[in-house]
Amino acid sequence: MAHLHWCDVTGHEWECQGAALRPLRGDTEPTPCYCINHQTLMEDGDHSQCSIELIACEEHREMQLRAMGYEPGQVPAPQIASDTEQSSMFVDKDGNRTVGFCLWCNKDFYSMEEVVAHNADDMAACEAFQELKGQQGMPPVLQAMFEQTGLLPKE
Ligand SMILES: [Zn+2]
Ligand SMILES: [Zn+2]
Ligand SMILES: [Zn+2]
Ligand SMILES: [Zn+2]
Repeated sequence: MAHLHWCDVTGHEWECQGAALRPLRGDTEPTPCYCINHQTLMEDGDHSQCSIELIACEEHREMQLRAMGYEPGQVPAPQIASDTEQSSMFVDKDGNRTVGFCLWCNKDFYSMEEVVAHNADDMAACEAFQELKGQQGMPPVLQAMFEQTGLLPKE
């Protein structure tokens, strides 16, 4: 059964058929999606009421990778000795590991639960997103990155 993901690059939902590519984890092939709440395959059962996993959609994936400093086609190196799902390449300004950050308000996330909470109900917890949504803009953090690198996305 198809399920939804939240693309945090521009902030929209997209439909997934059961497996998704997670390049930020070092994956080069799509892997099956698991329900964060049930810890079972998304294909098993009904997860329409469950938390939505944050993954950039196919269209915006490359944009996200570029914004993070990767060349197109280049994927982050697989993590060595990654025995926990939580391991990631992100660190906050104090050097603490994070699982990612909000492209809208630049908030650092330290666990998937924080990510899920921040993005729940159409990102109700994100003030920056609530202010800017509907204006068809790009997330401020992403915009700043593009300005820094001189990369501007194609329309
Ligand atoms: Zn999926
Ligand atoms: Zn579920
Ligand atoms: Zn997208
Ligand atoms: Zn936010």
